[in-house]
Amino acid sequence: MLNEKMVGLGTQRSVIRELFEFGKMRAAEIGAENVFDFSIGNPSVPSPSCVSETALNLVQNMDPVILHGYTSAQGDASARKAIADSLNARFGTNYNPDNLYLTAGAAAALCCCFNGLACPGDEFIVFAPYFPEYKVFIEGAGAKMVLIPADVEAFQIDFDKFEAAINEHTKGVIVNSPNNPSGAVYSEETVKKLAEILKRKSQEYGEPIYLISDEPYREIVFGNTKVPFLPRYYDNTLVCYSWSKSLSLPGERLGYVLVPDEMADSRLVYAAIAGAGRSLGYVCAPSMFQHICAACASETADISVYETNKNLLLKSLREMGYHVVEPGGTFYMFPRTLEADDLAFCEKAKKYNLLIVPGTGFGCPGHTRISYCVPTARIERSLAAFEALAKEYR
Ligand code: PLP
Repeated sequence: MLNEKMVGLGTQRSVIRELFEFGKMRAAEIGAENVFDFSIGNPSVPSPSCVSETALNLVQNMDPVILHGYTSAQGDASARKAIADSLNARFGTNYNPDNLYLTAGAAAALCCCFNGLACPGDEFIVFAPYFPEYKVFIEGAGAKMVLIPADVEAFQIDFDKFEAAINEHTKGVIVNSPNNPSGAVYSEETVKKLAEILKRKSQEYGEPIYLISDEPYREIVFGNTKVPFLPRYYDNTLVCYSWSKSLSLPGERLGYVLVPDEMADSRLVYAAIAGAGRSLGYVCAPSMFQHICAACASETADISVYETNKNLLLKSLREMGYHVVEPGGTFYMFPRTLEADDLAFCEKAKKYNLLIVPGTGFGCPGHTRISYCVPTARIERSLAAFEALAKEYR
């Protein structure tokens, strides 16, 4: 007898993986240049030179027994210090190494938070559209996910629905800005209102409601878009960060949980997060990349192509009649589908070798996610396919 839930998770392929496999099959049939795969959010630009230079330097000059050895569970102290210094320089904060717990990416950071915080019966509020793994992570921690429907006009927060969903079981709220899949960035006004409600409701129920800020796209923003730094607005904020996107290192698995001193019982919360990491068997984050990310913590890859792609796609799709909320960041766009059934729409798109992901999986039907972390030439070649698809609905 096996754990049926785990068998299910291990065997059901995600829609995104299905599309990716379909794309590979079509590429073999008609040539890769004729398949417009916008399914996966794998960064398409190389890491900055800081990454390879630091890697080379570490391999040549650092004692390999230390470089490839276990670090302390929360991460190497000098790496945490460098990361705290980088945060302090950029956000005017006063963090120290003990505010940081290094993890294998944002996924592990989130799992440490959910498992560290959740007691039986607890609920975590998530705003649609959302990163689908949240449900897996929250339920894996024995808690319940409560979904707030999307504000499809601007992809900010529907505060009435949010407030109505908070109750004595609410342990935390997850926000993801810049957002996967909408690309939306929460305005300062949204963040202030969110913080005000959380403070008021925490007081009402006599327990902190934690704000978990999942921000792997923090640096990937366009124009003058500013991403408010959430711990500045709400003390009980845990930041889950990752270098997967900003340094184009998704396979190297490095991120952190930031537990600010301003948080209520911050050392206890930190201990719970460390305990969760231990119970999940994470041991420590990848040692070599702790050092690399620490050395490159204030850098980003050259992400300018994402903005070029966003501009081209946004202008072209709008001209064709698609309704799109302009993304403030990330490398995703989330247009309305041209029929209410987003699954049928994305299936139809496959006829034109256009691989886009239905919004239903992100908790937001009637939309489709386009990942434009691809060469600009692919977008240029795909426009005729988007046009042919739109024509079917005119
Ligand atoms: N959160 C969001 C919103 C994401 O889009 C992703 C990855 O795509 C993750 C978390 C997980 O990132 P990581 O690679 O750092 O685990």
